[in-house]
Amino acid sequence: METADVVVNGVGVVGPAIARQRARAVLVWSVLERTALIGSITSSRNSEVIHTGIYFPKGSLKAQTCVRGKALLYDFCATYGVAHRNCGKLIVAADPTQVDDLQAIRAKAAANGVHDLRDVDLAELAELEPAVRGVMALLSPSTGIIDSHGYMLALQGDAEAHGAMIAFDTPVTRLGFADGCPTVTTGGAEPFTLQCRTLVNASGLDAPALARATEGLPDTARPATWFAKGNYYVLAGRSPFSRLIYPVPEPGGLGVHVTVDIGGDARFGPDVEWLEATSPDAIDYTVDPRRADAFYAAVRRYWPGLPDGALLPGYSGARPKLSPPGAAAADFRIDGEAEHGLPGLINLFGIESPGLTASLALAEIVAEKAGTT
Ligand SMILES: Cc1cc2nc3c(=O)[nH]c(=O)nc-3n(C[C@H](O)[C@H](O)[C@H](O)COP(=O)(O)OP(=O)(O)OC[C@H]3O[C@@H](n4cnc5c(N)ncnc54)[C@H](O)[C@@H]3O)c2cc1C
Repeated sequence: METADVVVNGVGVVGPAIARQRARAVLVWSVLERTALIGSITSSRNSEVIHTGIYFPKGSLKAQTCVRGKALLYDFCATYGVAHRNCGKLIVAADPTQVDDLQAIRAKAAANGVHDLRDVDLAELAELEPAVRGVMALLSPSTGIIDSHGYMLALQGDAEAHGAMIAFDTPVTRLGFADGCPTVTTGGAEPFTLQCRTLVNASGLDAPALARATEGLPDTARPATWFAKGNYYVLAGRSPFSRLIYPVPEPGGLGVHVTVDIGGDARFGPDVEWLEATSPDAIDYTVDPRRADAFYAAVRRYWPGLPDGALLPGYSGARPKLSPPGAAAADFRIDGEAEHGLPGLINLFGIESPGLTASLALAEIVAEKAGTT
């Protein structure tokens, strides 16, 4: 059997972030990816926002890794020349009933150590974003946007420069144990089994299914999963906004907000569409044009000037959820030996938003759990 020190399964954004961190600490190791491209699943189907950690419960992994990850990400972008923009974001109360929600968000942010939010009154809102209608807003000055693909390529380059080997078109079919060490078995054109000291399952939507297929893992370490699709519509024409504009959050997501990409194009979304699919392979990423009416209604709450016919179906992504529709949002989950009792295996579950922002902080935690920082 082939051996490696560390094997990471999944080349989204989280796998390469872990790879890069670990490549500095170990000599031989590899990253496996079942598609032919880096970040072709959830990591290329998101809003590309650098979040600040405003919304998450105090002490949660989401809050901690978002706050830490944001700082690491801005540093990384500056060091490696990844395109990004610290454009800021406004969370807008559409009517007086939502003003208390803004204050609750501000208090939650402060509890997470995010102290740079400030109130924006009606007059300032009109000055900052003349197209936006609302009664009050919160400004988050440190929110930004990033070229997520450029970021992943920089992570890949750095990992490879430090000795990592990335194998594409290499689907992992089974995780197991031999002689007290994790093993990973692949399919693909040239199937093989690798034994390693540390095995990191960073396979996003597929991570729970792989955990279910891991021999010896206790049932409590095999979480159930649900998928919530987020659809985007793109704006035909020029964006009237300079900042990201968010409504007050809705259950399951942040509400249909507007973000701009690095190229300056505006997109609206994501909404929240719970799927019946029980396997990631069954997810249909097509954006249903019939959802347009709901988008027009949601966007016009804060941008009444949205012209008819200006929204075009864009793209979609899927959130790996660890709690079902209607239940409280679950936290990120990083299960190591302390959680499941099996040495060397680390499973990452439920890495939905803010996973892009949090990626470098998640990598730090994985390195710590693996015993090499
Ligand atoms: C609609 C939406 C909007 C979002 N917006 C933001 C945002 O603005 N800001 C932010 O910070 N976060 C955002 N996120 C979250 C962020 O996109 C994710 O947290 C992040 O991309 C997850 O990365 P990942 O590497 O865990 O998963 P993925 O990107 O899904 O990567 C997992 C990889 O594992 C591979 N894989 C799966 N199974 C196997 C197998 N058996 N063998 C080999 N390889 C396998 C897959 O092919 C895939 O490439 C958003 C998410 C969604 C869905």
